[in-house]
Amino acid sequence: MLRSLAKTPRCDPFSAASLRSLRRRLITWYRRHRRDLPWRRTSDPYCVWISEIMLQQTQVVTVVPYFERFVASFPNVQALAAADEHEVLRHWEGLGYYRRARQLHRAAQQIVERHGGQFPHDRDDVLQLAGIGRYTAGAILSIALDQPEAILEANTVRLHSRLLGSQENPASRSAQDRLWQFAAKLLPKRGAGELNQALMEVGSLVCTPKAPRCGDCPLAEWCQARALGLEGVIPRLAKKIPATSVREAAAVVWRGQQVLVRLHPTGERWAGLWDFPRFPVETESPRLVADELARCVTDQTGLRIVVGEPLATIKHTVTRFRITLDVYHARRTGGRQLSASGELRWLRPAELADVALSTTGRKIARLISQGV
Ligand code: SF4
Repeated sequence: MLRSLAKTPRCDPFSAASLRSLRRRLITWYRRHRRDLPWRRTSDPYCVWISEIMLQQTQVVTVVPYFERFVASFPNVQALAAADEHEVLRHWEGLGYYRRARQLHRAAQQIVERHGGQFPHDRDDVLQLAGIGRYTAGAILSIALDQPEAILEANTVRLHSRLLGSQENPASRSAQDRLWQFAAKLLPKRGAGELNQALMEVGSLVCTPKAPRCGDCPLAEWCQARALGLEGVIPRLAKKIPATSVREAAAVVWRGQQVLVRLHPTGERWAGLWDFPRFPVETESPRLVADELARCVTDQTGLRIVVGEPLATIKHTVTRFRITLDVYHARRTGGRQLSASGELRWLRPAELADVALSTTGRKIARLISQGV
């Protein structure tokens, strides 16, 4: 009897009176359980903005040290706008999705040019900034400026889908419209920022993708998925596209005690970052890879090389590509001279610490610093 009652959804769990009660319960829980995170110790829109951009696609625990280093080096919009892009990328190195860093830098310059260095308070102005979409604008305006703006990101998509008992694919247009409407309906007149943060915190800590902790959930009373016994299947996500396997090869080209690095130009996957010359290869045969690598390095750099011993094989994933990267030592045997300031440089291994490298580039740099 009790079980069948538990499976019966409430008639209007989101009436105005019920929502007031939900907000009270949620805020009480949040004030007791919220994590102490550096960007929560301030309401400076600049810090909230930096944290929100870093947190896109990246876990909180990873972001914390990056955030602290970033705001220590670029403490305000003016400092970020005036920085060299390479310096900004160097502070981003390892966080991935480097387009975020380039857009952050661009947006800082836009804020200086258009708004005198003050983060804009108007939603339309915020949405005009590079790299800021509906979610980020809502997060900054609500958290830093307490404007009644809704937010919807991965945690709240999952949470709201479960609260509503929605069995639609949450990425569909109709589901997105419904979720945004629900997010707006949840907002109080004042305190939207705290409520938004509380919703994200429940999504992150309690209403987790696998095995949600419904017994600890402050919103269990309102949750339609739980009432229907569907918390394990909502949200119903579209099937993931399987990863594509790709093989690449990279050369650590030595000239005496120096190695060759190349700046990825605009339009390439890691634009603005330095790397060892690397190329897609069609074969796994070490001899054929070596021939192909030597030819590609010459085409790209104008240097002639001989490929030597294998250094390492590094496996990593970028978006939906699973990359196997074979790295070889190589030696310059001839070809053109490089200018000291161009997009190809000779650096000593110790000097690699001063440039922003791709994630695999940094792994290779560590290996050669250890004498591998
Ligand atoms: S009751 Fe469970 S499924 Fe529902 S919101 Fe809470 S944690 Fe998520």
